[in-house]
Amino acid sequence: MKPDSKEAVFDVYKEGKVVEQVTTNYDMIHITPPMSAPDFIKNSPLAVPGSPFGWVDVDKFTLQHNRYPNVYSIGDASSTPNAKTGAAVRKQAPVLVQQLLSQINYGKPADAKYTGYGSCPLITGYGKLVLAEFDYDNQPMETFPFDQSKERWTMYQLKKRVLPWMYWNKILKGTA
Ligand SMILES: Cc1cc2nc3c(=O)[nH]c(=O)nc-3n(C[C@H](O)[C@H](O)[C@H](O)COP(=O)(O)OP(=O)(O)OC[C@H]3O[C@@H](n4cnc5c(N)ncnc54)[C@H](O)[C@@H]3O)c2cc1C
Repeated sequence: MKPDSKEAVFDVYKEGKVVEQVTTNYDMIHITPPMSAPDFIKNSPLAVPGSPFGWVDVDKFTLQHNRYPNVYSIGDASSTPNAKTGAAVRKQAPVLVQQLLSQINYGKPADAKYTGYGSCPLITGYGKLVLAEFDYDNQPMETFPFDQSKERWTMYQLKKRVLPWMYWNKILKGTA
């Protein structure tokens, strides 16, 4: 960041390495700080070798570790290249359970696959929201039977009133 000249400098990564720096002017900027796995994972053999982010090195569909078959990982610390959200964890958890049960009972992977589901409730104005849900290929994985790419008051209400309840009462208990 160069706040004096109002310039933002972005590192462009390719295959885990910085290949280019791009400088962009801004009037107002909203940025996400650098993210990585916690140090105790980043500095362990579980992490993706040579990556500065230190994510747990797993298959993006089965969630099984690429080098330690008895290790699985979901959530923000895993290397799955999805939008890291609690909503993603909600879809990863049932796949993880099926994979574990299949390994324990049959000694082989289950057919269940995590396809990268992520959900971003984008507040676009007062009382308006776009509920973006998509997979690894950015293809829509919409929950509702209408066009979710439109700003909606109902989706704003969902985010404001329903999701907090669902989070505390259902998702954390594994029932939704
Ligand atoms: C501001 C903000 C807003 C968000 N809003 C949304 C949203 O609207 N919808 C959505 O779906 N997602 C949202 N997310 C993302 C969501 O919170 C995360 O994707 C989710 O919490 C990831 O869960 P996790 O269990 O993988 O990791 P975490 O929730 O980060 O849990 C990891 C836990 O490990 C603990 N830990 C760390 N180191 C150690 C250690 N050495 N020993 C023991 N424990 C340790 C931490 O204290 C923490 O409790 C938001 C995130 C942020 C920061």
